[in-house]
Amino acid sequence: MRSIAIVSAMHEELRALLPLLEDVRVQERAGRRFHVAKLHGRPVVLVLSGIGKVAAATTAAVLLDGFDVEALVLTGVAGGLHDGVQVGDVVVARELLQHDMDASPIFPRYEVPLTGRARFAVDAALADALATAAARCLAAAHADGRALRDFGIGTPRLHRGLVVSGDRFVSSAAESAALRAALPDALAVEMEGAAIAQVCHDFGRPFAVLRTISDRADDSAHVDFGRFIEDVASVCTRAIVAAWLAPANPAS
Ligand code: SAH
Repeated sequence: MRSIAIVSAMHEELRALLPLLEDVRVQERAGRRFHVAKLHGRPVVLVLSGIGKVAAATTAAVLLDGFDVEALVLTGVAGGLHDGVQVGDVVVARELLQHDMDASPIFPRYEVPLTGRARFAVDAALADALATAAARCLAAAHADGRALRDFGIGTPRLHRGLVVSGDRFVSSAAESAALRAALPDALAVEMEGAAIAQVCHDFGRPFAVLRTISDRADDSAHVDFGRFIEDVASVCTRAIVAAWLAPANPAS
């Protein structure tokens, strides 16, 4: 049986997923630790992407070339760009774009040279299954109330649409305003998704991207990023992944 790959951008998230695994074997390649295991009886491979587009692309290429992967899911946190996308919300991407790709005037802005495209679409069925699991987890309180209150999170919501990636942690109001103006339909910004999308596209392998919003990509980005990842985002990702791969879930 082929494996589902779950790629986490940050240590805290991978650490939160590891207790769900059985029969774990670790294989090291290109400085990455690939956890080959079972999750709810399904074969899985878990690995850290590393931060940024090159780290993520290398991880995805080694993973897809060296393991028998049926589909890849990237998890992590992201900055909210669109008005309604607030800290604690979850975004399931429909499309990914590299916001720092610009080979104009030779190619249109954002287009990945020689691919003829700027936007890479996720696998719709995989994204639907994740969104169903995410909606279920958000409806039940996905983190303890204290953590949500500390971070000023009311009722977290699920969004679906464009996620943009680039090699910058976007943390000023001016930069996020510029991104909003240039890409009005972008819901969130992060640093790996579009790189993984391009590699999966090259390998012809289905993929999806799931992100918990950790900040608003502006000067008000909350101070305790690490604690948010640990207390909210990791708990949320673990609940969604567990619900998605649960044996009773026909959509998985
Ligand atoms: N201070 C953090 C830095 C993490 S880099 C640390 O010490 O580890 C940010 C990570 O979160 C990347 O994986 C990126 O994909 C995501 N991310 C969250 N908010 C972001 C934002 N506003 N801009 C870009 N990436 C963001």
